[in-house]
Amino acid sequence: MAAPRGHALVYRVLAECPITKARACELTLPHGPVKTPVFMPVGTQGTMKGITADQLRDLGCEICLGNTYHLGMRPGPEVMKKVNGLHGFMNWDRNLLTLLFPVKCNMATWCTGRPPPPHPPPEISIRWLDRCLAANKHPEKQNLFAIIQGGLDAQLRKKCLEEMTKRNVPGFAIGGLSGGEEKDHFWKMVTLSTDHLPRDKPRYLMGVGYATDLVVCVALGCDMFDCVFPTRTARFGSALVPWGSLQIKSKQFAKDFQPIDKDCKCPTCQRYTRAYIHALFKSDTAGMHHITVHNIAYQLNLMRSVRESILKGHFPQFIQDFMKIMYGTKDKYPKWAVDALETVNITLN
Ligand SMILES: [Zn+2]
Repeated sequence: MAAPRGHALVYRVLAECPITKARACELTLPHGPVKTPVFMPVGTQGTMKGITADQLRDLGCEICLGNTYHLGMRPGPEVMKKVNGLHGFMNWDRNLLTLLFPVKCNMATWCTGRPPPPHPPPEISIRWLDRCLAANKHPEKQNLFAIIQGGLDAQLRKKCLEEMTKRNVPGFAIGGLSGGEEKDHFWKMVTLSTDHLPRDKPRYLMGVGYATDLVVCVALGCDMFDCVFPTRTARFGSALVPWGSLQIKSKQFAKDFQPIDKDCKCPTCQRYTRAYIHALFKSDTAGMHHITVHNIAYQLNLMRSVRESILKGHFPQFIQDFMKIMYGTKDKYPKWAVDALETVNITLN
């Protein structure tokens, strides 16, 4: 299928939730299709901590994120050229999303014009975007996303949205919102952004990865997410489960011979018990590795279930069930999530 207007991607909206702003789409990229909503695991310096490229592929991961800000320094552009770019370096033949500075835009397959932190004012972001668009020598192979900035200021964000949606870019990232701001401010900026973004282009919410945040932000109209959280928390022994997390290092698991989650089909849950992984943590890095595999599987499966429910028209019910399993009773639901979902016509019961 040919990409429109010289872009390297085709985006098709397959289903829209009739109640919320959620959508299920398919993104066609040079390295294969990506089904959204999607969670993208994050690698830094060309490696995914605690998991191999083969394992990611086996878990059904269609796209992951490579942090080129680090790659610019280590292993360095010369090495990258020799090994056929980041794909060759990581031995990853599927899609890669990379965050680049404008001047380095021609380095990898997929790129986002990411301005240096912290959060630049819209004028600077817009100028960066224009420089980045001008520097992209391979628009047929590389997709440049515009990053909507503006922090928590609704006026600044609107200005950024207004300017950036005038540019011919294949997709939009919502940036500047994963810095530990109040959740109440966070979701309002997310929904304001999706309200002003075009329907036919992907919306990538940067740096978001907690299960509840993912489900709520899909309801608010976001399609793509990335976060180091599932792999980072695995290294501390925390295994993600539908009812929260298990601290596998804790003594209570020393003689627990169940898998992390009996309903999980990942290689870790098929092979190992909580007690075994608990014991590994004392002497070995293999414990971290097994939990990392499970946590990535958990994120990918969560997004698959979300997508399935949108396609079948059951997404509002999915959210009700998700919240009940995650928090137990309504009094434990986070208020921000209840409020955010109200604005997209879901009253949690
Ligand atoms: Zn598992």
